[in-house]
Amino acid sequence: MNQPEQIVIAGAGPVGAVCALALKLGGLDPLVLEARPENAPVNDRRTLALSYGSRLLLERLGIWARIRDATPITHIHISHRGGLGRAFLSAQEEKLPALGYVLSYGELTQALMDMLRQAGVRMRFGVQVKQAEAQDDAAVLVLEGDSPETLHARLAVIADGGRGRDAPPAKWSRDYEQVAVVAEVKSELPHRNLAYERFTPNGPIALLPRGDGYALVWVNAPDEAARIAQLGDAEFLADLHRQFGNRQGRFRAVHARGQYPLKLDYRGTEAGPHVVRIGNASQTLHPVAGQGFNLGLRDAWELAESCLESAPEMIGSATQLARYAAGRRRDALPGIGFTDFLVRTFSTPNPVAHHLRGLSLMALQMLPPARHFVARRMLFGKNG
Ligand SMILES: Cc1cc2nc3c(=O)[nH]c(=O)nc-3n(C[C@H](O)[C@H](O)[C@H](O)COP(=O)(O)OP(=O)(O)OC[C@H]3O[C@@H](n4cnc5c(N)ncnc54)[C@H](O)[C@@H]3O)c2cc1C
Repeated sequence: MNQPEQIVIAGAGPVGAVCALALKLGGLDPLVLEARPENAPVNDRRTLALSYGSRLLLERLGIWARIRDATPITHIHISHRGGLGRAFLSAQEEKLPALGYVLSYGELTQALMDMLRQAGVRMRFGVQVKQAEAQDDAAVLVLEGDSPETLHARLAVIADGGRGRDAPPAKWSRDYEQVAVVAEVKSELPHRNLAYERFTPNGPIALLPRGDGYALVWVNAPDEAARIAQLGDAEFLADLHRQFGNRQGRFRAVHARGQYPLKLDYRGTEAGPHVVRIGNASQTLHPVAGQGFNLGLRDAWELAESCLESAPEMIGSATQLARYAAGRRRDALPGIGFTDFLVRTFSTPNPVAHHLRGLSLMALQMLPPARHFVARRMLFGKNG
């Protein structure tokens, strides 16, 4: 057997890349394996709403200064179609410059790739990790690429977005039977850094300020999403206006349309030795509360911290990973539960749910401590 690697990270999406950078800057030498070919453009139309807490993490790693194109969210307007009740969150009330920032997945990932290269992180592209299995002293990784091979590592960090073929069964799983239609749209009125979350019986519509327009996440049942996908631009915009209402005037232009099926898969991370799962490989969430990447970023940060604080021979040990896993459960499970509750209670045509929605929004608007609690949890997770 060749000398085992200390840490191998499978997947250089934003979560795996942040983890690799934090480890390298802290003095460790991880190896990153990414399925995408080197220099292939990151073809992903997702837009990410990053919380203010995530900005602080990216700042500490020097990544934030590299991101040119982040639009601040200073206010969030939450409402539901066809009923009373609305809530308004503001950065000023939280005494912060912004509640969050909107940026493109592709640009963030590209900026991270550039930083990893500059920091001298060892990376191999066009390599798929087919299997990662804990054995006595190390994880054994089976790689698929130009020539199949096996690697050993004291710690295998699975950050493959949950796409690995040998992923363990989810501990908590739900198919929402919903599809997110994403696009960039322009509205008649300027966005003034105001984000909208509008619940409709078909599913939530999120409009996130980005550049001089909005990033749209429009959730629908699969057949309705398929119908929307067939629409020409003018019909698409008219349909969106009917569903969303007139708060931003008419919608003027649309481009970069895409679709994502939505589900919940919570695997968490094994508390055994040598293999750990982070980001979407640990939890894939509905985007309604914009929590997925923010949680994944905290996974990456806390795992790197835990490795940097451990003695070299303890990296990948059951003791280290059990402590890490317990901390992450405390952060992830309330966020996942809240997201799941929002999807099931706020996105259904059920008349009882309709009244509950209105009452919840009124309560949130009338009770500043409740508003503050929700805002802090969304911005900073368990440390809210
Ligand atoms: C429509 C939509 C909107 C969203 N909006 C938000 C939002 O506003 N805010 C938010 O916080 N989150 C949001 N999310 C969630 C967010 O996109 C994810 O949580 C985040 O991208 C997860 O990052 P990741 O690095 O874990 O996984 P990924 O982004 O999926 O990256 C995984 C990487 O691993 C590579 N890979 C895959 N398999 C292998 C393998 N076998 N071997 C090696 N490499 C492999 C892939 O090529 C990729 O580079 C949204 C999601 C969707 C679908």
